[in-house]
Amino acid sequence: MVNFENFKVYGDYHTHTRYSDGFTTVEDNLIAATNRGLDVIGFSDHGFANPSFASLTKEKAKRQKDEIDSLRGKYPNLTIFQAIEADLISVDGDLDMEEGDFELFDYVIVGVHRFAKTPSFHSWWHLYKRAFFRMLPKPSPQELARNTNTWIKMLERHKIAILAHFNSIFYAEAKPVAECCAANNVLFEINSKHLSEIKPVFEDVLKTDVKFILSSDGHRKKEIGNFDKIKDFLKKYPEALERIVNLKPDEIKFNK
Ligand SMILES: [Zn+2]
Ligand SMILES: [Zn+2]
Repeated sequence: MVNFENFKVYGDYHTHTRYSDGFTTVEDNLIAATNRGLDVIGFSDHGFANPSFASLTKEKAKRQKDEIDSLRGKYPNLTIFQAIEADLISVDGDLDMEEGDFELFDYVIVGVHRFAKTPSFHSWWHLYKRAFFRMLPKPSPQELARNTNTWIKMLERHKIAILAHFNSIFYAEAKPVAECCAANNVLFEINSKHLSEIKPVFEDVLKTDVKFILSSDGHRKKEIGNFDKIKDFLKKYPEALERIVNLKPDEIKFNK
């Protein structure tokens, strides 16, 4: 049984580096993970649709992979993954990745980030308008239903591992999205930096069978592997602990 006495996060699967918009090197993250006592660290820099200074390219991904591989021997106690935080870029559930890009990474996280390029103005408006026009009225039931449908299309079309920071700028109905994650073996993220967005919907999410993963979404050394805020947040929901995959060793099976 997982409880607050034996609360230990085994891995941080969502971290950034200078290969996108993080402030750390690959080795900084490995050191931070070691210092925090993690067994697993995942690199998940931003995907291809983001502005070039804040995103991976295929060439950068290859360089990062080589750098990770060259450091594995120095950190034998860490399991190290190279993932990507891809972007949802259209109302039809398109990602900023081609089918063939998936095999470049150990797993794929998907989120919505306001500066990612979309294939049309139509999709830009639906995905990002709330990030730029804060004075808009609250999303209508129609908008929420449409956005929910977008998430469902994305989840059914692509083999992804983690849905990142739900309801940051692109709002949808939590329960059906979480149900669809559960049906497609997608982990629902509890993100250290986005707790305010999950708070209002967390009880709805708990009504589903979805499994959770805790992420620091660290862009700085002191953030990598830091789950203090999440632990505090979870005090209200002890029943969620048993469903958090990275509170158990070896619960997550990715490619490597
Ligand atoms: Zn970032
Ligand atoms: Zn993100």
